[in-house]
Amino acid sequence: MGKGFFNTPIAVNEPVKTYAPGSPERESVLAAYKEMFNSKIDVPLYINGKDVTTGNTKTLSAPHDHQHVVGTYHLAEKTHVEEAISTALAARTEWANLAWEQRAGIFLKAAELIAGPYRAKINAATMIAQSKTVHQAEIDSACELIDFLRFNVQYMTDIYHDQPESTSDAWNRLEYRPLEGFTYAVTPFNFTAIAGNLPSCMALMGNVVVWKPSDSQIYSAKVIMDVFEEAGVPPGVINVVFGDPEMITETVLASPDFSGLHFTGSTTVFKNIWKEIGNNIHNYKSYPRIVGETGGKDFIVAHKTADAKQVATAIARGAFEFQGQKCSAASRAYVSSNIWEEVKKHVVKDVKSFKMGSPEDLSNFVTAVIHEGSFDKLAKYIDAAKKDADAEIIVGGNYDKSKGYFIEPTIIVTTNSKYTTMHTELFGPVITIYVYDENKFSETLKLVDETSDYALTGAILAKDRYAIQEATKALQNCAGNFYINDKPTGAVVGQQPFGGARASGTNDKAGSVLNLLRWISPRMIKETFVTPTDYRYPYMGE
Ligand code: NAD
Repeated sequence: MGKGFFNTPIAVNEPVKTYAPGSPERESVLAAYKEMFNSKIDVPLYINGKDVTTGNTKTLSAPHDHQHVVGTYHLAEKTHVEEAISTALAARTEWANLAWEQRAGIFLKAAELIAGPYRAKINAATMIAQSKTVHQAEIDSACELIDFLRFNVQYMTDIYHDQPESTSDAWNRLEYRPLEGFTYAVTPFNFTAIAGNLPSCMALMGNVVVWKPSDSQIYSAKVIMDVFEEAGVPPGVINVVFGDPEMITETVLASPDFSGLHFTGSTTVFKNIWKEIGNNIHNYKSYPRIVGETGGKDFIVAHKTADAKQVATAIARGAFEFQGQKCSAASRAYVSSNIWEEVKKHVVKDVKSFKMGSPEDLSNFVTAVIHEGSFDKLAKYIDAAKKDADAEIIVGGNYDKSKGYFIEPTIIVTTNSKYTTMHTELFGPVITIYVYDENKFSETLKLVDETSDYALTGAILAKDRYAIQEATKALQNCAGNFYINDKPTGAVVGQQPFGGARASGTNDKAGSVLNLLRWISPRMIKETFVTPTDYRYPYMGE
């Protein structure tokens, strides 16, 4: 420590592999998938660097083949959560004192392990656990997670370089301390990269972590922990507990040493946790940092000058890739009446051409939704749309959970701009389209702004620059990530820092300096070289 100002490798985005027929990556991911799908893993808790089995287990299966068991995982009791907290606190002093370049070395190594020896395994685990196609797994669990790890190291050094001015007689130094106590990461099912990033970015900044992954992402969470362990994350720095989310969260929030929540998931869960933190505020030693990236009702607005084929493609990709289970997925669209018939023709043709089934068959574009709860919710909204006078299903509308949780990609067209699926987050392969009068563009932008509580992503498609400018201004508070002539999904670390406001979160932009700043508590050190010896100032002279 303190023996050089080290440069870290310049972060570059991990190239996305194609998995085209005949490619070596296709062969290795399919071999890994086959082997993992046809064997059984046992996933323990991970506390103080040790695998902890509790005997209280649940089975793991793939959403696209829910009767097929691929393993079991162990559920934590309250005592395990308390142990995770105390081991984290015990590890804190040494970890917080470790030189930053050593921490950087660990997470840069983790990135390279995922890029190389673990790539097929983490992608196959994501295909099995979360039913992602190989392309969706590759851009998430391989590339985005690698990018988070590499770019965060660079952002950490950017922060450390940021120092105040000094004078010849006083040297001012900002020291970026980790938070006192321990931090808590709660992660969603839908991105392996988010699951890996939330605990690791806090640990990178010198914090110790208790991590609770989603029950529906445990297989790939296990691979992440294997990577972190091999990369050299010391015992106690990142501890993983599975099980009853309420019990785990209540136990964590009851600790006076709780210092920060890094959450991604649904809005209601986040609001409830925030409320519980508020209820406990008098018990904490510090004010906890609260970061939450939550739900969305992401939009596409197609102006009368938009290209119909481009609009159709933005809808087909933006709404249906990964079964619409991206927080950024387009789930409401406003299409100008003059281009609607052509947009409809193209998008219906596209959707009808989608193949649906297991991710093991690489020709499938769509697979199953995550679990029965999600399937039943989506089926309920689809059934309602079949009956409601102000809604019409123009493609899709069928579902079947006999083997896997398969929902046909579905487009609802509504004559009611406030129809329930225009503002409720469904989180599945369903988009609702409202066709607006081509002469009512400004009024429609107002509708977009007012219809939903969320403000995560959105897109405007238009050729007319005046329309683009008007939409950019009118929709400035409707989306934290706004796209011009593109779909509203596919943010890349280092290029489009991600997050939204209103009911969509605290907008702390994962994959940027802004997020890392939340996990440090700066200490200002002023060193005076010639220390005064007389309290009197010159103005006090006679
Ligand atoms: P979820 O809210 O069901 O679960 C998220 C996490 O919270 C999981 O670990 C879960 O076990 C835990 N949890 C659930 N109930 C809890 C409780 N009562 N107390 C404490 N913890 C609890 O979300 P999900 O289904 O895993 O993910 C989908 C949601 O996440 C969607 O709403 C989506 O929009 C959102 N999301 C947002 C972003 C973003 O960047 N804004 C990114 C990904 C996902």
